[in-house]
Amino acid sequence: MVVMENSYGDMESLGACDVISWAVGQFGGDAAFACSFGPEDMVLLHMLDAVLKRTEKCVSVFTLDTGRLHGETYALMQRVHEKYGVRIAVFFPQAGEVEEMVTGNGVNLFYDSVEKRKLCCDIRKVRPLTRALTGKKAWITGLRRKQSKTRADVPKIGFDAATAMLKISPLADWSNGEVWNYILSNDIPYNTLHDSGYPSIGCEPCTRAVGKGEDPRSGRWWWEKGSRECGLHFREDTRT
Ligand code: SF4
Repeated sequence: MVVMENSYGDMESLGACDVISWAVGQFGGDAAFACSFGPEDMVLLHMLDAVLKRTEKCVSVFTLDTGRLHGETYALMQRVHEKYGVRIAVFFPQAGEVEEMVTGNGVNLFYDSVEKRKLCCDIRKVRPLTRALTGKKAWITGLRRKQSKTRADVPKIGFDAATAMLKISPLADWSNGEVWNYILSNDIPYNTLHDSGYPSIGCEPCTRAVGKGEDPRSGRWWWEKGSRECGLHFREDTRT
């Protein structure tokens, strides 16, 4: 859960680029941006790249490669590598943990039960995320309040008790339309699956396209009942 700290309340009026500039100036390499290559993260990456070109500071930018991503996501990762100056560190799950899990449970264990799906998300996502964030003081995210009810109160800057670090969400007050307008008007690369009915993209076996008017996150873990919430940001679950 993200808790708003009074001392950061006045930052709510800042625009996204100004929030990023503040984070870079305040934390530099002690700040980490976890890039999932979703639309919000592409906006942040584009802004961050511009901010870093104007400063001597650096920021830790990383992504989690679960080993089960879509081919389209890997194609986008390559385009980003070629277009931007920011270097993105790729964190993989530990090979031995994946080998043991798959050998004992099968390669598609996540369809068997919620417990096995959580085990897979834990080994392939949560543990690498924990490694990537170790020692950092601030975590830059693409969370938006309008994405879901559970994100409705996300502050632009707030203390995250789960990770004991400052969580910075420069796009907290943006709408989905604003995100896409920014992407298209700035020629920012994006995942081509978005043009095929995938509003939210995670691992290939756990994501499917949704129909018009459906909840944008209903294509994630569609065989399970309950929240489509991001486990990396809300630790009661392990989905993202
Ligand atoms: S989203 Fe699916 S494949 Fe990816 S880590 Fe979670 S359970 Fe495993």
